[in-house]
Amino acid sequence: KILVIGSMNMDIVTRVNRHPLPGETIHGLETSFFSGGKGANQAVAAARSGATVTMAGALGEDFFGKEIREILLKDSIDLKYVKNKNQTTGMALITIDVLGENNIILNKGTNGLLTEEDLAEIDWLQYDAILMQNEIPWETNAYILEKMNEFKIKTIFNPAPALPINNQYLQMIDLLILNELEVAEITEMAVEAEEDALRAAQILIKRGVSEVIITLGKKGAIYMNKTGTYYKSSAFDVQAVDTTAAGDTFIGAFVTSYLSNDDVVTSLRYAAAAAAIAVTLEGAQNSIPYSNQVNTFIEK
Ligand code: ADP
Repeated sequence: KILVIGSMNMDIVTRVNRHPLPGETIHGLETSFFSGGKGANQAVAAARSGATVTMAGALGEDFFGKEIREILLKDSIDLKYVKNKNQTTGMALITIDVLGENNIILNKGTNGLLTEEDLAEIDWLQYDAILMQNEIPWETNAYILEKMNEFKIKTIFNPAPALPINNQYLQMIDLLILNELEVAEITEMAVEAEEDALRAAQILIKRGVSEVIITLGKKGAIYMNKTGTYYKSSAFDVQAVDTTAAGDTFIGAFVTSYLSNDDVVTSLRYAAAAAAIAVTLEGAQNSIPYSNQVNTFIEK
């Protein structure tokens, strides 16, 4: 059983021939609504990989809040710890031009209002692992890390978007999963090649994290733990159409597999396959595959 504590958003995506100038009105070509947010995406990825998932977070009492609830319920995600707040639901207003260049206005909305008081009803000891990201206030995440450390519940943290984090908190993280940009920000070193990622992972382990995964886009991912075990996993060779939620899919799939089989290598491969499928499809949650699709893809 996994508890995801994090963000839920509605992404409103409009395709345009070119971006409007200040004060200008232009016609959009097509508008789509995508349910997103790293918390919700990872919850969906875990659920579709077969995990029993509960979500904690905050939505507004508006149209998007209701819509997001319905979408998450379709994946049988338990929403008993999702609070309603008197502000707008988190949303991203995205325009994409014909060259693929995007402009994004991200409004945190209710995600920015989640406090430790909102988590008061959680029956923590029910869960095998807690999965969190950086799209809710850091103070709330710090509270969760301290609490999980006290309860000895496995804590998995995806520090996205990256914020500086001190060793006191790094020591409370069992598994840290992050991409090249985030690891560069947190370790303050440039991470381009696999060797850089390896050194960055060593630094994070030295600073107190028990296990680290650094995802490297189409270069795959690396894993390291505090006993020095190191694995490199390749990405699958696919035609990428939209890499939105690649990382979220990878994380939800990895965590589910790893909790069920305790096998890093198998889980890295499963997660890479799930993410490879996701990048061949447009959108966020709608592109996240189910375990049977992932297993069929691996066997091919
Ligand atoms: P994020 O979405 O956080 O930027 P990454 O880009 O590192 O994360 O992608 C996470 C994982 O998704 C990678 O480790 C890889 O397995 C898979 N992936 C990402 N981009 C591609 C791609 N172009 N082709 C195949 N797999 C990909």
